Amino acid sequence: MTGADLRPRVQFAVRRPAGSGRWWYERIIIACPDGGIALPMAYPPAPGDTIMLWSTGGKIPGGSLFTVVSRMWAHSGYGSADWPYGQADPASGPVLDIIVEPGGGAYADETDICAEPSCEAVIIDGAWWFPPGSDTPDEHDHRPYQHDPVTPS
Ligand SMILES: [Zn+2]
Repeated sequence: MTGADLRPRVQFAVRRPAGSGRWWYERIIIACPDGGIALPMAYPPAPGDTIMLWSTGGKIPGGSLFTVVSRMWAHSGYGSADWPYGQADPASGPVLDIIVEPGGGAYADETDICAEPSCEAVIIDGAWWFPPGSDTPDEHDHRPYQHDPVTPS
């Protein structure tokens, strides 16, 4: 062991559709303890994970929730400047590029609930349905709860 920090050094980019099946990638600038551009992370998120991201410059358009869509690793080669011959470990961890898309989060596209505060009905397969153990409400016509409009920023 060399005592080196071998955590992956993570860089994030948001991808957005650019038409014709191509993408535009925006690198996310995140403050790092060493002043560099890659953040050492012991547990980098995997494809399919939902993550929160903030740029050092502020909120990212389409954020702050993103879904990881792809990862690319770059490991040091034995015998390279980062990992000289004769050393048991490289001097630093692999570089990991993580590509994300603006995403609705782990609970995205949740179904409607009834607007009546005492009613626990939800819409499942297009019909109102009561979860197991829910109270039987007074007779009323179920109607979907309307969330306050959220203004994207
Ligand atoms: Zn109801």
